[in-house]
Amino acid sequence: MTKTRVFTTVDALGSYLSEENQFASVGFVPTMGALHHGHISLVKQAEAHCEVVVVSIFVNPTQFNDVTDLEKYPRNLDADIERLEANCDCVVFAPGVDEIYPKNHQPKRIELGLLGAVMEGGFREGHFDGVVEVVYRLFEIVRPTHAYFGEKDFQQLAVIKRMVNVLNLPIQIIGCPIYREPSGLAASSRNQRLSETEKLDALLIYKCLRDVKLQQKVQSPQEAIRYVQEAFKSSPLQLEYIDFIDATTFASVEVWTPNTHACIAAFCGSVRLIDNLSMA
Ligand code: AMP
Repeated sequence: MTKTRVFTTVDALGSYLSEENQFASVGFVPTMGALHHGHISLVKQAEAHCEVVVVSIFVNPTQFNDVTDLEKYPRNLDADIERLEANCDCVVFAPGVDEIYPKNHQPKRIELGLLGAVMEGGFREGHFDGVVEVVYRLFEIVRPTHAYFGEKDFQQLAVIKRMVNVLNLPIQIIGCPIYREPSGLAASSRNQRLSETEKLDALLIYKCLRDVKLQQKVQSPQEAIRYVQEAFKSSPLQLEYIDFIDATTFASVEVWTPNTHACIAAFCGSVRLIDNLSMA
């Protein structure tokens, strides 16, 4: 097991990546820490394709619209480094807020249109502006050739692809499949805050996604929305939204197509969970 190098400053990471070494390809996995199998699966994909892999661990304050959510976000850098050391061959970038947002920092903004307005964009005001701001800044620092994002955050992946496209950045964005626990629950750092009972309750999210996928022939998207709403009403979870969107335009669909994607956000106690599934 090789010791994982950990950089906390932009300068130290910069000199490792550019001066000390000349890497032909740099894979990048941005995370907010509290690492789980989902994160590790991204790092593994990056390792398979790139000469060096940088994993950033930074809980970005600008993408949280809820102060309590930011405060309660799980943080454990030592455990994260241990986990990476045991499973991966990568370097870690774990900067403080001042490194990412120095005094002269100018946030990068792009026009997101409908993509920024629906679902996560609608319920978490300013969230994607914060995501664009931090990912652009991290790209500026790491200068990756490839960057890996989970389909777990389906809308975020689309936002990042849009950003790279609009700004013409020379970075290949790779979407990675959702890692699920054997129970079907999508792995998430927020799952740490769920009790064992809540973890069982939360299985309703994936169950609904699978049910509506199987029932496409017999119910319309509107009927499927009502089906999911009813299922949540008789559960301890609180549904925030169920939406069937076109995976390219993010407009809600009236009829099923092979490009339809189902997305759910729900509260399990005070923990907000999201999940999604292709209807194809
Ligand atoms: P986060 O630390 O939650 O910001 O996530 C960092 C990256 O890991 C994002 O690209 C997420 O989409 C991805 N990710 C989080 N959970 C999963 C999962 N269960 N499966 C695959 N990727 C994930």
